[in-house]
Amino acid sequence: MEPIKKLSSSYCPHCRSIKLAAKDSRAHSAFGFLTTKRRKVCPKCDYRVTTIELPLHLAEEIFQEV
Ligand SMILES: [Zn+2]
Repeated sequence: MEPIKKLSSSYCPHCRSIKLAAKDSRAHSAFGFLTTKRRKVCPKCDYRVTTIELPLHLAEEIFQEV
């Protein structure tokens, strides 16, 4: 299993050469806990991705099953 921190890498998975720019970030409350939703875009190839932060205990629960 790969380290969890690799999942939050902000390099573009498409062109791999440049850092993604955070375009939008806002707090989001769902399922009884607070998350942060970020929209990122690659300024080079226009790749877009949305990331959601989870509480660590929840993330560990989810990713240990993969
Ligand atoms: Zn890119």
